[in-house]
Amino acid sequence: MKLPEFVIYAVKRLEESGFEAYPVGGCVRDMARGAEPKDWDVATSALPKQVEEVFAGHRVAETGIKHGTVTVIIDGEPIEITTFRTEGEYLDHRRPSRVEFVSSLTEDLRRRDLTVNAMACTAEGRIIDPFGGLEDMKNHLLRAVGSPEERFSEDALRVMRAVRFQSVLGWQIEERTMAAMRKCGGLLKCISGERIFAELKKLVMGDHVLTALTCCGDILAAAVPEIEATIGFDQRNRHHIYDVWQHTARALALSERDLYIRLALLFHDVGKPKSFTVDQNGEGHFYAHAKLSAEMTENAMERLRADRRAREEVVWLVAMHDWSVTPTERTAAKMASKWGFERSRRLLKVKAADNAAQSPKYRQRGKDAEALLKMLDELEKKAGCLTLRDLAVKGGDLLALGMRGAEIGESLDMMLRAVVEGRAANSREALLSLLDG
Ligand code: ATP
Ligand code: MG
Repeated sequence: MKLPEFVIYAVKRLEESGFEAYPVGGCVRDMARGAEPKDWDVATSALPKQVEEVFAGHRVAETGIKHGTVTVIIDGEPIEITTFRTEGEYLDHRRPSRVEFVSSLTEDLRRRDLTVNAMACTAEGRIIDPFGGLEDMKNHLLRAVGSPEERFSEDALRVMRAVRFQSVLGWQIEERTMAAMRKCGGLLKCISGERIFAELKKLVMGDHVLTALTCCGDILAAAVPEIEATIGFDQRNRHHIYDVWQHTARALALSERDLYIRLALLFHDVGKPKSFTVDQNGEGHFYAHAKLSAEMTENAMERLRADRRAREEVVWLVAMHDWSVTPTERTAAKMASKWGFERSRRLLKVKAADNAAQSPKYRQRGKDAEALLKMLDELEKKAGCLTLRDLAVKGGDLLALGMRGAEIGESLDMMLRAVVEGRAANSREALLSLLDG
């Protein structure tokens, strides 16, 4: 295992000042499995103030000084350096009441969630693994460090993290760990929306999300209660061969790896159980479920403290997911001019994935969505080749309207952008109406 130069530099610098220092946690796990670490954490015997002294002359940020963390920027790369610590009594199954600095690396590794996340290494790349993380990694097993029940009831977010790692890595959750997750999963109710959302975003983007959602839906329902009623909900409708949650999990797993598309699919049918009716033939219907789903999604996204863009985009996709489309060029042009290409494509991809997870006997809606996606591509290609010369409005038209000089040029540019982005049709009427806005 070869560490990047900036990490070796940071570790050596601390060692030369008489401290111990080791890369730890996720970065060691990722290197050991041959993947690129996303961020670098170093654990050290130095106290935060001492870390700051060692790195005087570098950019240093006190990112979490109360918890012992200092971020140091080396060659433009951030490294989080944290003093060896254990955690005191836990309050409300969330956060430790206080952290305590300790002198040994092993004590620090003991507080971590999973064995594969409880490894450290030396500057030379030798792995330090007191809890059997390497063995578990070889067997593709996710196992809690120490007593699983204790670990999960200390900080219930760990339950969600385990499901997230299952989704991202595709590894199995060890039996006792799984049993403890089932027992303690309800405590996820105590965890803040922000922390849940950070894990949820990674979870839905995992390559093995179908396994994670099917195996752990009941656990996730404590973190995202909107999904609870969908689990096992029989649709009694010929378009469907799965219950609402199984359908949701499949639609999500079949969709593109785009955060908004995946979150929208997670929530698209949460309104179904409440809008369920059965007709005289015994067939189930869910009239206006998209609207109800969208309202519930809005609520969930607020609680999860999602940023505004994510909230708006996901709620809109959920509200529109059942909108019926006719696959014609006219529809494509209308969609592009109303919503732009990016948003229109997302909606069609949501629709295609939704349909792909229904009964194989009814695939027309998916085919229509795919056809429209192709038409949008064509349309964008055509629009992309446009220049000012092709625009339906000319400088002379604006001059006649009383515009002068730079204003004319700017207006023409604005119109061209609107056409290229699909927000306006290339017609005199449509373009001139942009001036009123
Ligand atoms: P990623 O690859 O997504 O960054 P990660 O495992 O590195 O995953 P981080 O949030 O960066 O996750 O945390 C770094 C390390 O800190 C983890 O590998 C783990 O050892 C420890 N850790 C993080 N959160 C917890 C927690 N809630 N309980 C116990 N240990 C944790
Ligand atoms: Mg990390």
